[in-house]
Amino acid sequence: MTDDTSLQAPAFVPGACGLPWYRRAFAQGAGYILPSCVFALIPIAYALDAGPATIALVTLNCLVIVTFFVGSTLVMHWPEWARWLWLAGLISSILALGLFPESRPLYFAPLITCTAVTLIAWRHALIVVVAATVLGLGFSLLQGDLFGVVMVLMGLALALTVGLGIRYDAARSALRKAEERTAVLAVAAERERIGRDLHDILGHSLTTIAVKADLAQRLTSRDPGAAAVQIGEIATIARQSLKDVRATAAGMREVRLASEIAAARSVLTAAGIECRAPVALPVIGDADSELLGYAVREAVTNVVRHSGATICTIEADADHVSVTDDGTGFAGPHDGSGLAGLQGRVEQAGGSFDVHTSSAGTVLRVQLAAPTTEGAR
Ligand code: ADP
Ligand code: CA
Repeated sequence: MTDDTSLQAPAFVPGACGLPWYRRAFAQGAGYILPSCVFALIPIAYALDAGPATIALVTLNCLVIVTFFVGSTLVMHWPEWARWLWLAGLISSILALGLFPESRPLYFAPLITCTAVTLIAWRHALIVVVAATVLGLGFSLLQGDLFGVVMVLMGLALALTVGLGIRYDAARSALRKAEERTAVLAVAAERERIGRDLHDILGHSLTTIAVKADLAQRLTSRDPGAAAVQIGEIATIARQSLKDVRATAAGMREVRLASEIAAARSVLTAAGIECRAPVALPVIGDADSELLGYAVREAVTNVVRHSGATICTIEADADHVSVTDDGTGFAGPHDGSGLAGLQGRVEQAGGSFDVHTSSAGTVLRVQLAAPTTEGAR
């Protein structure tokens, strides 16, 4: 990967760019590194015995080192090559200390390694850290400088702690962003599910209620008893729909092929459409039974509402259903959401959805990918 993000300074904080320089520095780690600047006093302390000129030069050199070190928090947004130059400036100013006797540039190893892991992409910074550690250890051992060994190892430990800490934070915030995205998608999917379910339930129930109310109205004068039965059924359906709407909102409603075929028989008969439907069904898994049930529900609602048919035939098997009517059919693409919603459900489950329509009637067919047996009923 060589995209811009992978070469960004690990301690770079995008939101810090618009801030005044001192707040930008603190946003990008100045607060953590300022205390380490006391190390700069060590060479000055060693130089105290030398003449004032040496003291002044060492102090100046240490100031330059501190400027490069603390200033690294201000150049996080620079391109990779410019940040490399900045790091080179820090390393050179530390090596320059070697010109003064007794000044121990090795003690600044932690400044180099920590700056590398905050300023340079992790995989490149590791090279700097390893190189600084190996070279530093080599020199310290050659000079028999035990404190140098300790400082170099401290540089290694600090760099790994800081570098891995930054990487851990970055991974955590990426994970949090991914979780937020997933949550947004889940909400959208849930909204879509509720919308689709409500359409399917209310479309079907209200159609049934309308058909039964028409029938009851026609029967009132001729056969008040039969009309009363229809009105009783209307009340039952209305109550059931209310329950279904509540259950849908809670995501607990169950649709099953067998109950949908039974409901279809009732609404078709009430609408004066002859219903030819199977009386026995094979064993079907819950998920398949639900999907096939939705298909029957939507197709039969359409037959009742739109087709003007006299006969409706339902065929069902463990992996498919078809609903055929001898109605008027319909032309081409349509605006409704019922068929589109059903098609979405079926295709999401890997099945296929077909509607053939002509002036001789309409056939809706849903074929499942492969039957499930889990939770069969
Ligand atoms: P809705 O039922 O909400 O209008 P649908 O997507 O279920 O939406 O159907 C879209 C349109 O297709 C219907 O409005 C109707 O004109 C037509 N249609 C669907 N099924 C049939 C059918 N079996 N017979 C005649 N027309 C139908
Ligand atoms: Ca419909």
